Amino acid sequence: MTFTFANVNGKSALISDGSFFDLEVISDGAVSADPMEALAEPETLHTLSSDLESFAASGMVDDVVLGAPVPRPANSFGIGLNYQTHVDEAAMDTPEVPMVFAKLPSCITGPTSDVQMRSGECDYEGELVVVIGSGGKDIREDRAWEHVVGLTVGEDFSDRGAQFMSTPAQFTLGKSMDSFGPTGPVLVSTDSFTDPADLELRTWVNEELRQHDRTSSMIFSIPELISFISRHVTLSTGDLIFTGTPEGVGFRNGVFLIDGDVVRTSIEGIGTLENRCISVPD
Ligand code: MG
Repeated sequence: MTFTFANVNGKSALISDGSFFDLEVISDGAVSADPMEALAEPETLHTLSSDLESFAASGMVDDVVLGAPVPRPANSFGIGLNYQTHVDEAAMDTPEVPMVFAKLPSCITGPTSDVQMRSGECDYEGELVVVIGSGGKDIREDRAWEHVVGLTVGEDFSDRGAQFMSTPAQFTLGKSMDSFGPTGPVLVSTDSFTDPADLELRTWVNEELRQHDRTSSMIFSIPELISFISRHVTLSTGDLIFTGTPEGVGFRNGVFLIDGDVVRTSIEGIGTLENRCISVPD
């Protein structure tokens, strides 16, 4: 049975038909209120999800502010240059292996969080985010999906001035500034998708559609990314992989985000992030 998981006021919840169900309550304490611990129990989440109609809803999703579905990942990775259209617009060479950087956990925020811009060179990158369920080392490609608990939407906000302040580039710092990692609005279990490797992704700035592609356009597939990363790093429950962005980012035209811009990022079958960009003093 599929499930849709969310963070409501810091507590783990399941979502169905616009209602949320507090997981600690409906499981009689068997599932932790802490989203990080709850995600380690995917079988229980599947079972409870199949029986949600027997519980009273805890409230309506529209009445609450959702947090990051995975608020404190041990590791959070970003993949650079994973769509050929984006490689081309960036005038870079196509990577021969996945280009991995740290999207530091301290930058992870919720689906409607504001983004604090400390320069006039901030940019958006709409991305699919993979959430690891059962961790491991040296995960084989043909077993990789078994290690994914679900998918969510992410924005890989980037300060291009910080990212390219020097050579080689500073991907980790430029993409991990405080508030630069909105995620959510929910985590959708992998079995919810007809094909979790082929989802429509769109990003708007205000009302203008800027990015539109399918996740099947990735250069390195999700199993290839998991296998490659886990060869170097032991993966843990809740680890995030921002899988890269397609073409349409601002820096190709030198057009960056300005104070008050609203970036929306939507992925088929998951939902939409909506983040207001606010200029703050540097
Ligand atoms: Mg990116």
